[in-house]
Amino acid sequence: MSMTIAISNQKGGVAKTTTCVSLGAALAEMGHSVLLIDLDPQASLTRSLGLNPKQLRRTIIDTLMGDCSLVGISHETCVFALDIVPANSQLALVDRVFYKLPGYQYRLKKLIGAIVPGMYEYILMDCPPYLAPLTLNALTAADLLIIPVQCELHAAHALRHVIGLARQMREETNTNLDYRALVTLYDGRIKLCRLILDQMQHELSPVLFKTIIQIDTKLRECQAWGKPITSYAPKSRAAQQYRALAQELLGPGAGDREGQDTSQLLREHAPEEDLPMAELSERKDG
Ligand code: ADP
Ligand code: MG
Repeated sequence: MSMTIAISNQKGGVAKTTTCVSLGAALAEMGHSVLLIDLDPQASLTRSLGLNPKQLRRTIIDTLMGDCSLVGISHETCVFALDIVPANSQLALVDRVFYKLPGYQYRLKKLIGAIVPGMYEYILMDCPPYLAPLTLNALTAADLLIIPVQCELHAAHALRHVIGLARQMREETNTNLDYRALVTLYDGRIKLCRLILDQMQHELSPVLFKTIIQIDTKLRECQAWGKPITSYAPKSRAAQQYRALAQELLGPGAGDREGQDTSQLLREHAPEEDLPMAELSERKDG
C-alpha cells in the first residue's frame, strides 16, 4: 500500500518544495520507491530536480485536463527510485477552470488510484501557496498532510488556517486525512524563534514532528544544481535532518500515533484565537 502525502501551507517560502524534494530523496535513499508530483504552477519542484519547465512536452496538466496517466508523463531523476511528475506555468489554467467541473476535487485521487499498486510506496505532492482547486485536489488525495511551519510571529495564524482547512476536508472530501506540522528554517540563534518553538512544542506536540529542520545554506545551493540535498551534500546537517524526518515518518513514532483519533487531535491541538502570540511579541525584547 502506498502512502500519499500533501505538503501544504498557504504561506509561501516556508520550505514546502524543499521538504517535498528532500524528504522524497531521503525515502528513496532508504530503499523506497517515491513519486513526487509538482502541483505548483511556479514549478519550483520541477526546477529543483534539474528539469526546465519550458522544455517539457508533457506535464501534470496533461493528466489533470487530458488523458495521460501520471506514470506516462513521469521522469526519472538523478536519484534511483525517485521519479517526478513535473509542472509548468500552464498549470495555472487548472485553477481557473476546474472549480466549474462537478467533483473536480477527486480528479487527482482517481489518477493516483490508477497507478499500478505497489509501483510507488510514497507519493509526495508539492502544493501551491494558496487555496484553490489544485490544493483541494491534493488534500482530497492525501493520507497525510505535512504542514511546514517557520518559528516566526505570524506562523500560528497560517497554521490555524491550514488546520481549519484540514478539518473542512475531513468533513467534505477526505474523512481519513491525517496531518502533522514540521518546523522548518529554524534558527536557534534568534530568541523569538526559540520562544515560538517552545510554544509549538507545548501546544502541538502530538502532531508536531520531533525532527526540526534548521537553517542550512546548502539547501539553497542544491536547488541551483538541480539535486536533492541528500545527493548534493550528503553529510550536511540538512541532509541528516531530512533523513531523520523520513525515519520519524516510518519509525515507531509514526506507529505510536496509530489508532489515535486524529479528529480529536485536531480539536485539542488546533491553535485557537487566543494563542499567546501577543505575549511572545512582548517577550521578544525581554
Ligand atoms: P515554499 O515552497 O514553501 O515556497 P521553498 O522550499 O521554495 O518554500 O523555500 C524557500 C527558500 O528557502 C528557497 O530558496 C529554499 O532554498 C530556502 N530554504 C528552504 N529550507 C531552508 C533551510 N532549512 N535553510 C536555508 N534555506 C532554506
Ligand atoms: Mg514551493
